[in-house]
Amino acid sequence: MDLTQDEVHRQSLADPEGFWGRQAEHLHWHKKPAAALTRTTKRLRTGETHAHWEWFPGGEISTCYNCVDRHVLAGHGDLPAILYDSPVTNTKQRITYQQLLDEVEVFAAVLREEGVKKGDVVLVYMPMVPAALIGILAINRLGAIHAVVFGGFAANALAQRIEASRPVAILTASCGIDGNKPPIPYRVFVEEAIRISSWKPPKTIVWQRDELPWRPIRKLEGQRKWQNLVKSARARGMRAACVPVKSTDPVYIIYTSGTTGLPKGVVREAGGHAVGLHLSISYLFGIHGPGDVMGCFSDIGWVVSHSYTLYGPLLAGATTVLYEGKPVGTPDASAFWRLVEEYKINSMFTAPTALRAIRKDDPDNSHIALIGQRGGLRSLRALFLAGERSEPAIITMYQDLLNKYAADNALVVDNWWSSESGSPISGIALAPHAAKNRRVGLEGHRPLGIKPGSAGKAMPGFDVRVVDDDGREVARGKMGNIVLAPPLAPTAFRTLWEDEDRFYRGYLKRFGGRWIDTGDAGWIDDSGYIHIMARSDDIINVAAHRLSTGALEQAITSHPLVTEACVVGLPDPLKGHLPFAFVITTTTPTTPNSSSPSPSSAAAAPPDDAQLFAELQTLVRTQVGPIATLGGMIRGTTSTTMSTTSTMMIPKTRSGKTLRRVLRELVENAVRGEVDKEVAVPSTVEDAGVVEVAREMVRRYFEGRKREGGVKARL
Ligand code: AMP
Repeated sequence: MDLTQDEVHRQSLADPEGFWGRQAEHLHWHKKPAAALTRTTKRLRTGETHAHWEWFPGGEISTCYNCVDRHVLAGHGDLPAILYDSPVTNTKQRITYQQLLDEVEVFAAVLREEGVKKGDVVLVYMPMVPAALIGILAINRLGAIHAVVFGGFAANALAQRIEASRPVAILTASCGIDGNKPPIPYRVFVEEAIRISSWKPPKTIVWQRDELPWRPIRKLEGQRKWQNLVKSARARGMRAACVPVKSTDPVYIIYTSGTTGLPKGVVREAGGHAVGLHLSISYLFGIHGPGDVMGCFSDIGWVVSHSYTLYGPLLAGATTVLYEGKPVGTPDASAFWRLVEEYKINSMFTAPTALRAIRKDDPDNSHIALIGQRGGLRSLRALFLAGERSEPAIITMYQDLLNKYAADNALVVDNWWSSESGSPISGIALAPHAAKNRRVGLEGHRPLGIKPGSAGKAMPGFDVRVVDDDGREVARGKMGNIVLAPPLAPTAFRTLWEDEDRFYRGYLKRFGGRWIDTGDAGWIDDSGYIHIMARSDDIINVAAHRLSTGALEQAITSHPLVTEACVVGLPDPLKGHLPFAFVITTTTPTTPNSSSPSPSSAAAAPPDDAQLFAELQTLVRTQVGPIATLGGMIRGTTSTTMSTTSTMMIPKTRSGKTLRRVLRELVENAVRGEVDKEVAVPSTVEDAGVVEVAREMVRRYFEGRKREGGVKARL
């Protein structure tokens, strides 16, 4: 039977009980669930009601057992589970399933001795080292709940999360290493965070690394040295067995990356998480089991890495590559391609911002070409991109490269999701391996084609709709708010940590409990492809026309000299707002994309600002429409000599998301003559200094504009 992604999706919505019930059978349950799904209505204290559902009620499961023990018992103990590669410490390590089981059993016993029990929260603040994955699995083994906080967050951001989750212990390391920078003293950050926090976790377990000199453990403050505890537990033969939890018990809390407001603690539930990820890693990512290798290059602090560095590949019994390095600079822009070659990675996952960084460093794609020409990328079946919108220019460029160098029919797959969804809401399910796909009951599935600029079609269990501000569905092709109809797929959240009210207010109230708001805006085309164009808050209203930042940035980045763009609304007395662009250009054309225009300037001397602006204006007017006429532009350039200042103009979160809101506020303040006014910068900002660089550029731009009486304003 040949099933398309559309048919699989239809089945999952028409008969969720049957569909997910079959998926659940692929896992080991300590107690089988009584049903796959039950649905009820929840009544809040305020009297408001909304749809409520439970996945796999009555079931009991241990995710750790399914990720580790199960594969050893099946005779796969000698297969590699984790391949650790750390150019920043010059270390490589191969950990088999048997070795992983041994480490996790012992460390779980350590945690138990340190007072961790089922249902407790343990906070993890770790670099990308095997101990982080072992620690997380050990927490899970005890039926406890992990809350991983991105390493390197400042002490106050960490303190906020400690207070919110009240952990009984913190796992950390003496330091993290961020590219070529000096080691970051994680342990000191933790100490400072505990000092600030009103909640004092009784224990802090420190993984000692060689990159920072040893500081004595402060035993009286509850600190313990990880390696010593393990040594002692091993000597005494201590090991811990898996403690199953109810399907609806939390396995983890993850705080959203926070481009807006205070971080929210998304709760992931045991049963749905395991079943949903087990399907997606195989169906969407094409990682089916032993012999398949996943390379998910994100940090364990983010949901992408929770799902596809750790849990997904291990649930499948495949191999995961744990990379402690950067896309560029460790040592250069060849890093990802070197990893694909060395570990024969089948599916690679990263954020578009990483590819943009590679493109800036290596505009000719010389690294990928060199490795590709010697056949080093033949194992690669797909390059997955998520985290923010991928402009078509970057998708087509990498698709062309995959066509040349990767496995037959390899795809670049933009997939859209969030911490809340736990797995992709949309994407293109990979060409399956028929025999392997049989394991998940989806034999004969055929992949759809990709459409650059679209994040693919809906994934099983996600009922995606586009609605207007009153919650009414809009016609195909029309832009609106992207919402989900309940119930959500099993990996997705059903509440926020100890904050049911905020869950309702944040996601359900806007549409009267009928839809779950994703906070994203976009459209679905006639063939069902989903286009995520902006955060709803980033929509620019020009003379009552709603323009998405994504469409404008797409037009601007189709210019061969533009490597990155960020568009925000410039207040305008006549039209409400005009699109205003921050653009980063390079001196070398970087988008050999046949659909791009070839402005005269690309071949000759680089255009000056006025010429570039005119060219971008033409692109925007032709690709989006005359209504989208740009109201101004600030330009930064990338060249070998200037790379630092130029790339520092667009602030990002630690997870690589553009902080449009910050640039928007700077522009709005400047228009009001208040450029020095403080802007709300989230604690997740990668480098707060960038905001100040942007502020200076905005100041200079608007001072110039004022001097010239608005005439040159359009530059
Ligand atoms: P987070 O919870 O930090 O993973 O952020 C989720 C948000 O990232 C989504 O709501 C989107 O705004 C954005 N996002 C993630 N993946 C994509 C994508 N493929 N295309 C467009 N936006 C994306």
